[in-house]
Amino acid sequence: MNNHFDILIIGGGAVGCAVARELSRYDVSIALLEQEADVAAGASGRNSAVVHAGFNNKPGSLMAKLCVEGNRGFEAACRELDVPYRKTGKLLVAFDQADLDTLARLKAQGEENGCQGLRLLTQEELRAKLPQVGGIGALESPETAVFDPFQYTVALAENALQNGVQFFLNTKVTAIQRTSEGFRVTAGERVFTARRLVNCAGLHSAEVSALAGLDRYAIYPCRGEYFILDKTDVLPMPIYPAPKAGIGGLGVHLTPTIHGNLIIGPSAEYIEDPADTASTQAVMDQLWTEAQQLLPGLQGRQIIGSYAGIRPKQAPPGEGGFRDFVIREEVSCPGLVNLIGIESPGLTASLPIGRMVAGILSLSMDMTKKKNFDPTRKGITRFRDQSPEGQAQLIAQNPDYGEVVCRCQTVTKAEIRQAIENPLEARTISAIKYRAWATTGRCSGGYCLPKIAEILTNEYGMSPEEITHRGDGSHLFAGRVKG
Ligand SMILES: Cc1cc2nc3c(=O)[nH]c(=O)nc-3n(C[C@H](O)[C@H](O)[C@H](O)COP(=O)(O)OP(=O)(O)OC[C@H]3O[C@@H](n4cnc5c(N)ncnc54)[C@H](O)[C@@H]3O)c2cc1C
Repeated sequence: MNNHFDILIIGGGAVGCAVARELSRYDVSIALLEQEADVAAGASGRNSAVVHAGFNNKPGSLMAKLCVEGNRGFEAACRELDVPYRKTGKLLVAFDQADLDTLARLKAQGEENGCQGLRLLTQEELRAKLPQVGGIGALESPETAVFDPFQYTVALAENALQNGVQFFLNTKVTAIQRTSEGFRVTAGERVFTARRLVNCAGLHSAEVSALAGLDRYAIYPCRGEYFILDKTDVLPMPIYPAPKAGIGGLGVHLTPTIHGNLIIGPSAEYIEDPADTASTQAVMDQLWTEAQQLLPGLQGRQIIGSYAGIRPKQAPPGEGGFRDFVIREEVSCPGLVNLIGIESPGLTASLPIGRMVAGILSLSMDMTKKKNFDPTRKGITRFRDQSPEGQAQLIAQNPDYGEVVCRCQTVTKAEIRQAIENPLEARTISAIKYRAWATTGRCSGGYCLPKIAEILTNEYGMSPEEITHRGDGSHLFAGRVKG
């Protein structure tokens, strides 16, 4: 196997995959190395799933510029990549005079950043728009949207793959040496060489930079916990509290997901272990209290789950708040493009970040555009999204569309099979879950998980002992009881 590439990308989150997709427009050889068993295993699969408008970020910062640019192109990108997206708009709610002042300041800041349509609402206007929401005024952002970040990352990766990028999953970079030609990158037993390195390792980007010899960055993990509520139409758009200074997040908000659930969160808590995605009682209690202030009618019995994502913050605990993205080729390590501190709005900004990386690389290498780049990618055809006639037609074409495997989310066997046969060849339960959206309902897979395991064993030749949730160390079955 050829292990030499013009460009190696380290990290298969939304940013690494967007970089891969944007670089695949050029006539260069590219590989992406991801330590986990699938893409989107880090922050890109654990977040609020909001396409931000860009009013929260400091004018002149990369965060502001790339967020506004990302927001403007997001809908078109989702259309090209067949990713669920809905422009919902969003409200930031004020509870006192200080909040009203914050909202006025954010409106002015957003306008300076180029956000469109921002509008301050009086209490009466807020009541008329969303009578179920508390508060004394609001800032309305019509350009905010919700989308599916997992499918987005998968779609970017699949599109990059289709355009020639090679993906190496389960491939953790453990050593980097500089050579006269560029870099020699070790990942366990494998060795890769490349002329350029793009470090998109998220929470581990400071470590990867240090492996390449540049030990100047620090990343502080900051956990955000969420509740997931059952499907509901109680809110048509995300609602956020007016942000408080220095918390290092946007405040606990309520966000209707593209799949019809409501999420509450995230908290913002600096932690030691970057892998600690636990949900904790104290934080969950706090989330619930804050959420009820925003939406007084919430019921505890609507909760069906929880999760947490970790922000790769450059601002240490004592400082809090946001530091700007670092995206640059390092002068002291030519050929290394570092992406450090890509916290929110990193999803929104991911494609402009990819274009920026292409621009940086084109300063030192020949980047000729390919003639045959195809920007489109087709996702799984969803049974539940079709009209009754469309559903009948799907079943006539493929009888597996007539067999519902996940009852909570109405996911058929045909969709499960398409998820299993994904182009990246990721075969974990979570790879199937996020592609097909099975196991995500109120029974949390109680009904469909054994059926998916059965399909994997009976139809794809996997032994039960080979099936994992997320790769090594997360086996579904410990062993056989008999036989
Ligand atoms: C709680 C929370 C809420 C957020 N909400 C939003 C939002 O609503 N909207 C928005 O725009 N942004 C949001 N963000 C920010 C967004 O999620 C991130 O900016 C974005 O996902 C970063 O993508 P990434 O690819 O840089 O990082 P990641 O998704 O973390 O990917 C990094 C990848 O690198 C891999 N890796 C690390 N080390 C190695 C190694 N040595 N070898 C190989 N691979 C390696 C990891 O396994 C991982 O897959 C939120 C973030 C959090 C945490």
